[in-house]
Amino acid sequence: MDITRNRPESVRGPAEHFTGTVWLDQIAAPAAPSRLRMFSVHFAPGARTAWHSHPHGQVLHVTEGQGLVQREGGPVEEIRAGDTVWIEPGEKHWHGAAPRTFMTHLAAVEAAEDGTTVDWAELVDDTVHPAA
Ligand code: MN
Repeated sequence: MDITRNRPESVRGPAEHFTGTVWLDQIAAPAAPSRLRMFSVHFAPGARTAWHSHPHGQVLHVTEGQGLVQREGGPVEEIRAGDTVWIEPGEKHWHGAAPRTFMTHLAAVEAAEDGTTVDWAELVDDTVHPAA
């Protein structure tokens, strides 16, 4: 058993993969054989990920605020504190804050054999996400 209190520094989500202000806190990345990777992700109003997929899927659990998630070919769906979302393996999607509110979610994935946790695609433009 191990209790971690001194977490790594918050990391800014890079502009090639995120629109707006996004900060990521790594919660857990245990050694093998575990492949768990867990983050708390903080989105400013209107901020969002680029389109992307996860090789083994992803669990999102909203802890604060209101946000949006969209699967390719599907509607933009509202999510809020307390909601849990399952993204299927390989399913292209994006997630982020609603236009006028902050949103924080926990994000848990399992890394692929080569360590990959996300495959990035194009940014989500304002015609899809009507950012304030
Ligand atoms: Mn995702």
